[in-house]
Amino acid sequence: MRSARQTLRRPDDLIAAGLMPRERRSQIEEVAARYALALTADVAGLIDPADPQDPIARQFVPDPAELHTRPEEMADPTGDDSHSPVEGIVHRYPDRVLLKPVHVCAVYCRFCFRREMVGRRRALSRVQLDAALAYIRAHREIWEVILTGGDPLVLSPRRLAAIVKALAAIEHVKVIRVHTRVPVVEPARVTSALVRALEAPGKATYVVLHANHARELTPKARVACARLVDAGIPMLSQSVLLRGVNDEAAVLGELMRALVECRIKPYYLHHGDLAPGTAHWRTGIDEGQALMRALRGRLSGLCQPAYVLDIPGGHGKSPIGPNYLARVGGTNGTARYEVEDFNGRRHVYPPVA
Ligand code: SF4
Repeated sequence: MRSARQTLRRPDDLIAAGLMPRERRSQIEEVAARYALALTADVAGLIDPADPQDPIARQFVPDPAELHTRPEEMADPTGDDSHSPVEGIVHRYPDRVLLKPVHVCAVYCRFCFRREMVGRRRALSRVQLDAALAYIRAHREIWEVILTGGDPLVLSPRRLAAIVKALAAIEHVKVIRVHTRVPVVEPARVTSALVRALEAPGKATYVVLHANHARELTPKARVACARLVDAGIPMLSQSVLLRGVNDEAAVLGELMRALVECRIKPYYLHHGDLAPGTAHWRTGIDEGQALMRALRGRLSGLCQPAYVLDIPGGHGKSPIGPNYLARVGGTNGTARYEVEDFNGRRHVYPPVA
C-alpha cells in the first residue's frame, strides 16, 4: 500500500489520490510516457481537488494539452546543448557557467524548459563530473558557478558537499549559486546536514528558489528557507509567469510579498520559454509588461523582480521591460527625456546635453 508521504509518479497514483479523473487515464498515460511525472506528498497535499482551476494542480498535474507541440516550440529552448563544451557544463556568458550534476528533480513542473531532458538522464558519472570540474579549473574567467539540473538539492548532503568543496577549492570561483525548488516542494530535505553541505568557506553561496504561487510558501517551506538564510546563505527567487497560476497582479503581488517576508529577494520573473507542449501556460509579453507595471504601482521596491526572456537559440537572458524612460524631441537642443512614475504619469527630465 502507498504511504501518504510517497511521491506520486504514475497516472494511477494521481487517480488514487483524487487529483485526476479516471476518464483521463489514457491521455495522461501518453503525456507521462513523454514527459517525467512526479508530485511530492507536500505538493499533492497542497492541491484542492475540488477546484478545477487550482494553481498548484495546474503546475504539476499533467494536462492532455501537453501533447500538442507548436511549430515555434523547441526541445532545447534556452540552447543549453549548443553552449555545452563538456557534459554537464553550459558556458554561455564569459564569467559564469551552469554545472548540472543531476538531471532529476523532486517534482516535475509541467512547463519545465528542460522537460525533454529532466527525469531521463540521471546524474553525471564520476568521470563526467571530474571533467566538468577540470573545465572550470582551466577557465580562469569563471567567477560564478550555478548548480542547476535537475535540482541539485535532491543530491545527498555528502555528494553535494563534495561538489561544493571541489568548487570552493578553485581560486578564481568566488560565487556558488544553487537553483532549486526543493525548499517548497519537499522542505524536509533541507536538513542541517544539507545546509552544512552548502557552506563554502571563503566563497559566497546563494540559493535561488523557484516558486510561482504564494501557496507554495507553506509554514514548512518557510522553516526550510529560514534554515538556509539563518545559516548566512542569501536567498533570491525565480518565478515563471504562467497563465492560470500567477497571471493576475494581485496573485503575483502576493507571491512577491510572501517571498520578501521569508527574506528572499525576488530576482527573476521569467517569460514562459518555448518548450514543447507548453503554449497553454504562456502569456503575451504585453501581458507580462502590464503585470510588471501593476507591481511597480502597488508594491515595495523589494518586491520587484526583473521580467526576463531567454532568447530562443541560447542567446541569453534579456530584461524585457516595461520601459519607463523615453527620449523625445529633436536634435537641435530640444531633445529631452520623459520618465513615467509609478502611477503611469509622465514627467519631463531636463533636456539632453
Ligand atoms: S524543478 Fe526546475 S528543472 Fe525540475 S522540472 Fe521544475 S522547472 Fe524543471
